[in-house]
Amino acid sequence: MLFDSGTRADVSVVFDYIENILKRPRVDLKLVLVSHAHPDHSGGASYFQKAGIPVAGSEKMNEWYKGLSGFATYLVDIFLSYLVWFRKREKGDKLRNLFFPRKIKFDFLLEGEGSVPLFPDWRYLKTPGHTLTDLSFYHEKSGKLYVADNLIGARKKCFAPYPIFSPDDYRKSLESYLKISPKSLLLAHYSEREFVASEVEAILENFPGKQRRHLNTLPSILFGFLKRLFR
Ligand SMILES: [Zn+2]
Repeated sequence: MLFDSGTRADVSVVFDYIENILKRPRVDLKLVLVSHAHPDHSGGASYFQKAGIPVAGSEKMNEWYKGLSGFATYLVDIFLSYLVWFRKREKGDKLRNLFFPRKIKFDFLLEGEGSVPLFPDWRYLKTPGHTLTDLSFYHEKSGKLYVADNLIGARKKCFAPYPIFSPDDYRKSLESYLKISPKSLLLAHYSEREFVASEVEAILENFPGKQRRHLNTLPSILFGFLKRLFR
């Protein structure tokens, strides 16, 4: 099972890892879960499907990039993905195509809350806030909780992500993590990390409660990018 597809460019990286590091056939990957609609989480999903791997996620997730405003969000999200690539690229890295189908035809729908198809010891939980339809995945036996982008990890601490589309929902999602009180967090952009309740409580305490979205923040992101480009 794979938590999130990565971008379109990551699909070959995952298969390479399965075949050359794990030394297993790629068909051993039985399911790709999609936590939310962002290029680095859902962009590769359709390409895993093309390779015969089923994909599971929430149908409501497809609303995120729907229509004209959805299309604008899609373009901005792809631009931001390229920006991350631009910052982190190493010598010799080639520009890759990150554009992907905006709608995913899920093989398994994850609506409400329940157990993950094919992996019934994992539960999927509705934990919106970062977008409108974020899912988290919890394995009770081991106490591991995959929170996707709801918490961004660094070595020393966790912090809130960008964007935060729905602050009220985000707050409730963090509160639900506190209630679950898992042993460890699986963070999409870091690794596994011990769950420290006081860190999450600190985010809740210092949380401004305002939306953090492209409309509010894009000008400063663009300005920073141009400054970097021309310095
Ligand atoms: Zn995200």
